[in-house]
Formats: sequence, structure tokens, C-alpha cells
Amino acid sequence: MEQRLDVLAIGAHPDDVELMCGGTLARLSAQGYRTGILSLTQGEMGSRGSREQRKFEAQQAARILDVAWHGMLDIPDSNVAVNEENKLKVIAEIRRHRPDLVFAPPQRSRHPDHVNCSQLVREAVFFAGLRRLETDAPHFRPQRLAYYMEMVDFVPNFIVDISSTFEKKMASIQAYTSQFYQPGKEDREEPTFISSPEFYQSIISKAEYWGQKVGVRYGEPFEVAEPIGVDDPVNLLCHKRQTKEERQALD
Ligand SMILES: [Zn+2]
Repeated sequence: MEQRLDVLAIGAHPDDVELMCGGTLARLSAQGYRTGILSLTQGEMGSRGSREQRKFEAQQAARILDVAWHGMLDIPDSNVAVNEENKLKVIAEIRRHRPDLVFAPPQRSRHPDHVNCSQLVREAVFFAGLRRLETDAPHFRPQRLAYYMEMVDFVPNFIVDISSTFEKKMASIQAYTSQFYQPGKEDREEPTFISSPEFYQSIISKAEYWGQKVGVRYGEPFEVAEPIGVDDPVNLLCHKRQTKEERQALD
């Protein structure tokens, strides 16, 4: 049986995951977790870049983020429907890789494919656990689903410090040469919303903004639907604790 993943990040299109949680994936890989990226579509309706080119770019990006596995389904781009057929495709991937943690697009998004992807993943994570729903793999339910942030802000439940992997995140985004602004390079193609220098700058600004909220250089925010159970709130909430000597020095 294929080696399981600890974390599977799912997006509607190639490059969604890199943009929204690439720093987190690279950091988790560095911490020894087996990470994966699944794109529901092959991005063939994007204004720029062919299907083959986007596949190549996704491979490059996956390598940069040190993910253990990446794949693309064949759900049609700009028609990510929440239906039985697509749900079974996502369930099959979840059962095949058995991740503890799944990342998905948020429930509110600018792009309708992302909204539907969010719903599909939410349903698939749950129904993958039903024994009586038979596929060719045994039933399995991930422990947790977390939503990454896109254009619509929410109050995050946690922010991952990605300062140590921010350069990798940006390199993985730059690997999508057909899609994004490439600093220092001339762009001869038709401009799109995401190919502008302003969009590129906004990726950096957002990482700085969310990092600043938790006292680090760069961050990526997430939301979870259910409350988080904690064994040690002191350790969780005060990870920059003062030593005994530091406390005494303040007295
Ligand atoms: Zn997308």
C-alpha cells in the first residue's frame, strides 16, 4: 500500500495551494511530516498557459515545497460541481492517502470553483469515513479539516509562522511562470488579475500582515470549524515563555 500522508492540501486549480498555504506545507515537510497537494482541476480554463505547461509548473512547485506527493484530478476547470461523481473522486484520494489533516479553500471566496471545492472537500472528508460507502479503498476519516485564507478575510483560529519557508513559498509561486508576475522579467502575454506586480506584492504584504499579528515576520492564517482541544494551554498560548532567570530579572 502506498505510504500515507500526514497532511493533504487541496485546491481547485494548480497554484491555489502554493498561494494560500505553501509556506505551511514547506514548513511541515521540514518538520518531518509527509505532505501532499491535490488539485481538483488541471487549470485548463486559465487565461494563460497550456494544460501541459501548468502540469510542469505544478511539478516544479511541488519539488520546491518538498511535498511527498502531488496530483491532479480531471474535474473540468470552471465547472467544479458539487455532485456525487466528484465527491467520490475526492473520497478516493482521501482514502488512498489517509491524511490526518486536510487543508481546503475557505467557504467564502471570489472564485466559484473555490467555493465548490471547499464544499466538496468538506463533504468528502466526512463521507470518506463511512464504512458503508464502498470504494476500492477502506473507509477513513481525517481528524481535522482546516481552511486556508483567500480574498475574504476571517478571524483566524491559528496563524502558522512561515518565516523560515517564506522564500520557498515565493519560489513555488514563481514556478508558475505562465500565471504570475516574474520580478525582473519582461511579460509579453495578455495581463490578468493575478499576473500583475500588484498581485505579487499583495502575497508578500498579506504574509507580513498575518505574521505581524503573531509577532513573526511572515504568517499564513487558517480557520477550523470545530473547537480545538488543548492539553497544555500554557505551552500552547505562551510559546515564548520567560525563563525563571528572566522572570526574576523583571521582579
Ligand atoms: Zn484557483
